[in-house]
Amino acid sequence: MKTDKYLFQITIPSVQKLVEASRKTADLWAGSFLISYILKNTLKDLAGKYSSTKFIIPHEDLIKKDIENSFTADITNIVIFTIDIQDKNQIKDVIGCIQNSFKKHLIKVLLGNNNQKNKGISEVYEKLEEKNYLTENIKNLAEFQIENSLNLIIGATKLTNYSESRKELSKYIATLKGFKFKELDKIESFELISKENNLFPDNKNYKDYMQITNEIKPALIRGAYKCSICGERFILGATEKDFTGKEFWEFLNKKYSILIEENERLCGFCLGKRFLKDTLNKTDNIPSTSDISMKFVKEIVKKNYQEEILNILDLGKDLYEDNQNITSAIKNKDISKLDGEWLMPITWENYIKQEQDENKKNILKEIKKRLEEFYKDKDFKPIYHYAVLLMDGDNMGKKISKLETEEKQKELSKYLSEFTKKVKGIVEKNHKGFLVYAGGDDVLALLPVQSALDCANEIQKEFNQDLNKKIKDKYFPNEKDLDYHFTMSAGLILAHHRLPLNYVLSEVRNAESKAKKDGKNQIHIKYIKHSYSFAETSLKWDQIETFNNLVEKAEKIPATLATQYYELVSSFDDKSYDKNLVMELATYLMKKKNLKDEIKQLLIDLTDYETTIKDFSYRIKMAKFIKSNTVKEVSHATA
Ligand SMILES: [Zn+2]
Repeated sequence: MKTDKYLFQITIPSVQKLVEASRKTADLWAGSFLISYILKNTLKDLAGKYSSTKFIIPHEDLIKKDIENSFTADITNIVIFTIDIQDKNQIKDVIGCIQNSFKKHLIKVLLGNNNQKNKGISEVYEKLEEKNYLTENIKNLAEFQIENSLNLIIGATKLTNYSESRKELSKYIATLKGFKFKELDKIESFELISKENNLFPDNKNYKDYMQITNEIKPALIRGAYKCSICGERFILGATEKDFTGKEFWEFLNKKYSILIEENERLCGFCLGKRFLKDTLNKTDNIPSTSDISMKFVKEIVKKNYQEEILNILDLGKDLYEDNQNITSAIKNKDISKLDGEWLMPITWENYIKQEQDENKKNILKEIKKRLEEFYKDKDFKPIYHYAVLLMDGDNMGKKISKLETEEKQKELSKYLSEFTKKVKGIVEKNHKGFLVYAGGDDVLALLPVQSALDCANEIQKEFNQDLNKKIKDKYFPNEKDLDYHFTMSAGLILAHHRLPLNYVLSEVRNAESKAKKDGKNQIHIKYIKHSYSFAETSLKWDQIETFNNLVEKAEKIPATLATQYYELVSSFDDKSYDKNLVMELATYLMKKKNLKDEIKQLLIDLTDYETTIKDFSYRIKMAKFIKSNTVKEVSHATA
């Protein structure tokens, strides 16, 4: 029978929003992994049903790969493939197959199923059922929320000229993306406030409205509370009697204290996401932000002072109750899996404040004091900041469109999939970080502050070398235009471990945009302290070595050099300032501070007086910040 080849594209919009809606690093992992996992299973089903399916993006190896045993998201939210179609009606079947399969897998991993009782999210709903917490259609609400959480956009066009067909398809998808679905504001069998909005037609302020409603008719607020993670969907567990879902969430917090925090209220989608790791039987560790901050400190302690630290923690052994993280570290005499936050004196401070019992308070105080003495005695310190790194290839869309045939684009997919495999090793083995995802040319990773810059640099070098050799030199050997060169830009945030994760994630997105906006092929770094004070600067990749030299010597630069310069230039117009005057000021201050020639030269080489007037002070601050968040292997360790 005669067939026509059709080109298909699947896109999942707003994945970025889904990933950024994270309170814990486990949410961040789950948001990224979920998309990759569901999409791969869907594509596997599709290829099983339509044997003529040929994947262009991502590379078919990534779909064939053992999905159940992977732990890192390695495909993006865009899929391009071809299928041989007999008649036009078959296109509808293909689209239906994709949509059904996607929904089926989504429900299975986020709501659970009967085949995996006693595990992950299935167990959660079972326990809730047992205790009679699933009244008033709560599970239906969860199912509704999960089904409507992700929007799949699918387009198809007859394949004529590959390049033309792709352009046509992209345009079509872009139009669909622009089309906004009407927000759902009421759900069957759920009495939502929108239904009685006419009670307060003039009141547009949500907060005021909630307050007034709460006073007049509290039951109306049932179902009006939004999820702590996404802030979009309504919470589960609200009933006619208990409209804030208090009992429901207290039960879950008690039963799953590690996964559900006190006062957290989640929607059905985010609850499923929170339990995804257990549901999929993953035993890999997802480090918390405090654990990543303390990575190198923990290694030194583990190697040299483990017993000493365990003895300190043992002082509170009667206080830890169900804190399995500490108790198992003490029991196994091994701190490898102990969250780094327990090695921070500041963590104990919070428990001291909360504790009512005087005796217990004194024990906690003693632990904190001993920890402080420990660091003082050993001459190193706890590290409170960690890094989030976001990178992607520059002008990838343009580059892909220059590879005009299906074969060439497939080849690019293949090299990109090889690149993503290498990224895992670079982040986790070479630089002791945690890779959240590496798909296509996109990378998101959590790292200790002291290894983050080198990690970013190594990733971009790998990308450059690989793709320029394999694609650029092969297909465009004589092109001098930078449009043909494969380069990367990155955003890097060095943040206090207690800052809200979703805020840090939106900041890293901004930092990456700045790196792109100010010329690409570079990294934009910003540190944000607990007080939200910050400094930011951009570095070209070939400046990293020089900057590392500056970091190495940063302790010899007086902090007042940065602050005095900052004060002096703060009255200047930061758009039209006299660059020479500013440079003279910096030179004068360096001389006044008796800065060593070597350091002076580094600052002269690095500072960019063109882009921003503050650059001189920001670079000093950044170097000092990174240095102060670096620990060195202790050479004179006591036995
Ligand atoms: Zn939610």
